[in-house]
Amino acid sequence: MLPLRFGAPPAGGYRILCLGAHSDDIEIGCSGTILRLLEEEKVAEVTWVVLSGGADRAREARRGARRVLGRFPGARVVQREFRDGFFPYDAVPVKEFFEELKRSVEPDVIFTHYRKDAHQDHRYVAELTHSTFRRHLVLEYEVMKTDGDLGNPQVYVPLGARTVRKKVDILMDCFGSQRSHTWFSEDAFRGLMRLRGIEGLSASGHAEAFHARRIVL
Ligand SMILES: [Zn+2]
Repeated sequence: MLPLRFGAPPAGGYRILCLGAHSDDIEIGCSGTILRLLEEEKVAEVTWVVLSGGADRAREARRGARRVLGRFPGARVVQREFRDGFFPYDAVPVKEFFEELKRSVEPDVIFTHYRKDAHQDHRYVAELTHSTFRRHLVLEYEVMKTDGDLGNPQVYVPLGARTVRKKVDILMDCFGSQRSHTWFSEDAFRGLMRLRGIEGLSASGHAEAFHARRIVL
């Protein structure tokens, strides 16, 4: 399989935008890929946006982002407190935030939720991503849950053992508030990455996977 890479970065490096409805979504869905990009590519900027969270979950979100982004100088973490579970019903302020965001970033690649995700907040974030950033490369990540809404992704990013371990460590260390969910476990995170690694022909055995509405070669 001939692997693809992003086109040449603009001067300075790639500008990456990560969007997550809740404190742990970005880490679950795409932190392995972000770790790889930071390590292997020229990256100028990562804007990391978490759209909900009271005091505790906001703290978790900042901690998780710090662990993934490390000392990367182009990191910008944005935290908002839209009401968890109510994004489509409190739609206007969330939409206004996306309009504000559009004026402050010009991303080369965007990581966001899957547009067919069963969680209403995730789905609304995906919808706003596509309606706000219409001429961009958008990769939609997966968040497993009891709804059984994982689809058939098309884009696979192989992850080495060290990156898989770091991602799982960050998730287990930073998000104590989520431990009560049956799916929030080390074996579940590893299991999904292993499955995607098989599908994605990953030599290391693990991968993250994404849905893409449009990819231009
Ligand atoms: Zn979420």
